[in-house]
Order: sequence, then C-alpha cells, then structure tokens
Amino acid sequence: MRLIIMGPPGAGKGTQAKILVEKYSIPQLSTGDILRAAIQAKTPMGLQAKEIMARGDLVPDEVVCGIVSERLDSADAKNGFILDGFPRTIAQAEELDRMMEEKGIALDAVISLDVDADALVARIKQRAEESGGTRADDNEEVLRNRLEVYGELTKPLIAYYKKQGNVKSIDGMGSIEEVTSAITDALG
Ligand code: AMP
Repeated sequence: MRLIIMGPPGAGKGTQAKILVEKYSIPQLSTGDILRAAIQAKTPMGLQAKEIMARGDLVPDEVVCGIVSERLDSADAKNGFILDGFPRTIAQAEELDRMMEEKGIALDAVISLDVDADALVARIKQRAEESGGTRADDNEEVLRNRLEVYGELTKPLIAYYKKQGNVKSIDGMGSIEEVTSAITDALG
C-alpha cells in the first residue's frame, strides 16, 4: 500500500500515520521527523532547516525531495509506505510523480484529513503542552504562519490529486479510533 496522508498542521496526520504503519506493515515516511532528526544531529541539512522550521516556513523543495527519493529506495519501503508531511507544494507533488514513475510504482490513495481551524489551534496547543516544548514550531504565532503556508501552498494539492482520482476525504474531527476506522473503510 502506497499512501499519502494530507491535512493542515494539527489534523492528526502523524497520529494516524503511526496507526496505519501497524495495520498495513508499511513504514511512515515523515519529512518533518527526518528534518527534526537532522537538526538534532546538527548535520548541514539540519543547520539549513532549523531557522526555516522554527518560523513555520517550508524547507526548499530540493532538500525534501532529496530526502524522499533516498527514503523510497530503502529496503523497508519496497512494499509500500505512508508519506506524512510530503508533498507540501505542487512542485514536490510533480517531483514525486516523476520519481514514482521512474521507480515503476504508483500511489494507491491520498488520504485528506478535514478538520476545522479552531480545533487545529486547540490540538496544537495540547501537543505543545504534552511534548514539553520539544517542537519549536508548536506555538500560536508560528502555527498561524504554518496554517497560512498550508492554505497557500499545500491545500492546492487536494485539487491536484483529485484530478488524478485517488483522494479519500476523511472527516478528521472524530476520536482517533473513529478517524482510523473511516480511513480503513475508505481504503477498502
Ligand atoms: P511536520 O512535522 O510535517 O509538521 O513538519 C514540520 C516542519 O518541517 C514544517 O513546518 C516545515 O518547516 C518542514 N517540512 C516538513 N515537511 C516538509 C516538506 N514536504 N516541504 C517543506 N518543508 C517541510
């Protein structure tokens, strides 16, 4: 199963991706997690991404596309994967299409989690409290920017994938279990 999980910050992408990992025995490929690990390890990529992420802006397309291309080639991703947080721009989606075509693979579905804006702010605040401040981008001002960036650059991807005919729109407002079962029903 080759999946993308999309939705605004705080929609529950990471939470649902981790559950789908268990259900379908596929790895979660989170560009955000990989970038945070690079920041921790102080690699050149981490140093480049640190300030950008702290502001809630997007890391350059070439950087994240490089991460994904490498990750798609690793052994654990041969039988499927769930992309979480990628693609985030039309250019990234086009590059992903190109990469997948080159590798002779195709997406099974794009899961789009729908949640309302007030719920997002509440969820992010909760995550900030629970994580004890380990994410520099989980505060209200940066969240506002992340939501803006999402609306401007990432949301258009829903229409992009609708044209390809593989979008599953899921109501993300229920409990974690309800959202998971809506996703698994939609995947059939
Ligand atoms: P996430 O963990 O998916 O919420 O991502 C956290 C931050 O990492 C984002 O706000 C961006 O700064 C950066 N990031 C993650 N994935 C991407 C991507 N596909 N393109 C550009 N920046 C990204």
